[in-house]
Order: sequence, then structure tokens, then C-alpha cells
Amino acid sequence: MEAGDFKDFAKAMTDYIAEYLENIRDRQVVPSVKPGYLRPLVPEQAPEKAEPWTAVMADIERVVMSGVTHWHSPRFHAYFPTANSYPAIVADMLSGAIACIGFTWIASPACTELEVVMLDWLGQMLGLPESFLARSGGEAGGVIQGTASEATLVALLGAKNRTILRVKEKHPEWSDTEILSKLVGYCNKQAHSSVERAGLLGGVKLRSLQPDGKRRLRGDTLRDAIEEDTRNGLIPFYVVATLGTTSSCAFDALDEIGDVCNEHGVWLHVDAAYAGSAFICPEYRYLMKGVEKADSFNFNPHKWLLVNFDCSALWLKEPRWIIDAFNVDPLYLKHDMQGSAPDYRHWQIPLGRRFRALKLWFVLRLYGVENLQKHIRKHIALAHLFEKLCSADERFEIYEEVTMGLVCFRLKDSNEKNEELLRRINGRGKIHLVPSKIDDTYFLRLAICSRFSEESDIHVSWEEVKASADEVLKGQ
Ligand code: PLP
Repeated sequence: MEAGDFKDFAKAMTDYIAEYLENIRDRQVVPSVKPGYLRPLVPEQAPEKAEPWTAVMADIERVVMSGVTHWHSPRFHAYFPTANSYPAIVADMLSGAIACIGFTWIASPACTELEVVMLDWLGQMLGLPESFLARSGGEAGGVIQGTASEATLVALLGAKNRTILRVKEKHPEWSDTEILSKLVGYCNKQAHSSVERAGLLGGVKLRSLQPDGKRRLRGDTLRDAIEEDTRNGLIPFYVVATLGTTSSCAFDALDEIGDVCNEHGVWLHVDAAYAGSAFICPEYRYLMKGVEKADSFNFNPHKWLLVNFDCSALWLKEPRWIIDAFNVDPLYLKHDMQGSAPDYRHWQIPLGRRFRALKLWFVLRLYGVENLQKHIRKHIALAHLFEKLCSADERFEIYEEVTMGLVCFRLKDSNEKNEELLRRINGRGKIHLVPSKIDDTYFLRLAICSRFSEESDIHVSWEEVKASADEVLKGQ
């Protein structure tokens, strides 16, 4: 096999990718395959002899695309968006070519240094306080994690470490196990399941607190819980405030929560996985009022900022609590420049890390802040368009205020009828939505996901919802 052949393969694939994305609207959004569909389509064993790349290329549609859910189709409205853009895809190609593992500065200085600067760029774009940024000259700074789930866990481990050390100063006679058994953290009942999971993985108690009528966790609720637990001998150590909950995109009262955390010396982590991207538009920053009171802040450029998965940005005011908690220092990972630049292996759970800052660099330069803001504003406007269409039909109600690119809606009818509505919508196969439930009320979520979405696509989606409702209500 000649190397030239593979170059041709790479070129052909580049064309295929462009063709795929530009015509994605025409594909069936969710495939109609059944579990186990793929095995009969490929041989039982790996080939003994090399195949021509054209044979692989010919199998992409038959084997892969026949079982792909097209997340970037304008007909895809499930979950939250996951980002996709040519600059990010191209950056991933370059990252794949360099293929370094940037666990320490010396392991690939550009990999670390570009990440430090990109996280400063991004932090400024969001309007984060200087106290989170590396350029402030202190220890603070950002790091790219794989997912928001990892960011929540990493922050929890930092908070745990900080609290254990502080408690030990006061009570040197207490053992680690004793202290651990008393630690308790808090989040909104509506927080993402990854928060509960972080508690399980971190071996600590987490309490889910009841939000107010707008699904927001309020300061007073948190204060009452902290005071009650303290009276009972527990040690509050960690709070996760969610900006943009997964079910309905509600925003916790960060400013109030921040005051309570600061009063009680509790680590405040902000999970803005989806909605955080909107803070590049100044008009949405009121939703993160109080962010300066947080210890860590996380959002996913890989959700809504055109940077392909995986790229989850985490800023820490005092990374030392995490660096110290995770610091194991074998000889083979030491280097002469230790301490002069971050060794990101201490800021995360795995050792290995890809050159993900390239994706940010390409996207931020090739779109510019202005076009990224347009992207966010367009998605929000499209959500409002769907909201308008839905509100004008008296059979429907909007379940939750629309602030971002998510519309929560339902038929003014029973949960069963709404479940049936979703079954019909997805069953017709043209668009794809997922449901949620809050306090026993079942509703449908329509998220604007694709960067290709236009007003005409929203009309198509609405027509599908309407036609499905006709079927359900006529009992067809
Ligand atoms: N937090 C919130 C609020 C989310 O909406 C999500 C996913 O949608 C997550 C966390 C988990 O994100 P990730 O898949 O990056 O871990």
C-alpha cells in the first residue's frame, strides 16, 4: 500500500464530509434500523490483506450512514445541540496529524500554551471576572475537560480536598474517613444527573434541593439546608449552581447562592453546560449575575459554540486544590520547567490529553465573536418562532418560559395524550424530539440544534407537531 493512496482517501473523505453536511437536511433524521443491524453487514473477521480505500469509502453509506442519527440535521430537536463547524473539524484533522499527548508542558509546549491563552480569550468573551483568568497573573486559569460531567467531578474533588485540609487544621485529631463521612454538597433537584454521579464517584453525600416555581434553586433554600446540616454535625463543602437546566433551561439564582456559599466557605461550582455559550452575548449576562462569587465555572463550547465534541471549558480560581489533590509525580513525567507553566495532567482525571485548543483557536478566529453571537441569537430567535407558532394554537401550552434555544411545550391534556403525541411525532420519522417531566407533568422539548436551521425548517417542524396532534386528538 502506497502512502499516496491514503492521501487520496483523505481528499475523498474531505469531499464526502462537505457533501454530507451540506445535504444533511435530506436524510432521515433517525435511522429505521433495529439493534444488531450492523454485524451482518461486515465480515466476521478483520481482513488479512489490505483492502483498497475505495472499498471502505463504498461502505460508508451502506454500513455507517444507514445507522446514523443525524444530530446536525435541522430536523433534529432532541437533547441539546452538539456543535459542528468546518473550522473545528479541520482543527481536529490537524490535531490528529500532530497527535501529541499534552499531559505536561514539555510533552508539547504549544498544546499547553495555546490552551492557556484560548481559555483566556473565551473567558473574556463570556465576561468572566479576571479572577478566573490566567492573564490576571495569579494561579487562576482555564482548562479544557472532555465533558461537563468531568468538570463537575474535578471541581468536587477540589472542594473535597480544600475542606478536608481546612477541617484538619481545626480538628487535627479527626481522621480523613471521619471527615469524609460528614461532607455534604448541594444542587438543584433539576441539576443534571452527572452532578449526582459526581457525588457517587467522589464518595460524598449530595442533597438535591427543591427549586422555586420557576425551577430555580434559591439562596434561602440553600441557606436553610446548610444550616440544618451544620446543626446536625455535617460539613457542607460543595454547591453546584446550574445555569440552564437540562429539562427546561432554568437558571439558578446564582447571585443569592453565591452569597450563601461565600458566607459559609463552601465551594461554588457553576454548571452552564449548554446555556454558557449565550453569555458571549452581553444581553444574556444578567443570567450569570454573581459569577464572581463562584470558585469554578464550566460550560461546553462543544454544545452551542460551534466547537466539535469534545471541548468543555472549566475555569478555576484556585486550581491548587485540584493540582494538589491529584498530584502524583513519577520521575518519567518530571521536567526542568515544572512550575513555570501548567502541567494540565494535574487539572484533570486522565493523564493523556489531545490538542483540543486548536479547535477553539480556529473557530474563534474564523467566525470571530460577531458571527458566534449571530449564531446564538439566531437559535434563540428560532426558538421564539416555534414558541409563537405553538402559542397561537389553542390546543397547546408553553410549559416553561423560553429564554434560550429550547421550547418546552405540551398539549393541554393528560400526560398520556402527550406521550402519545411524542410517539406519533417520532414515529412519523421526519423530526426527532425527546420529552421531560417535572413534578409529574410530562412535556415535550424542542431544542434548536443545527447550525443549518432556518425559519423554514421551524415551520416544517411545527407542521409535523401539528399534524401529529391532529392524529392524536382525532384518536386515529
Ligand atoms: N450539565 C447540564 C446542565 C447539561 O445539560 C448536560 C448535558 O446536556 C451536562 C451537564 C452533561 O454534559 P456532558 O455530556 O458534557 O458531560
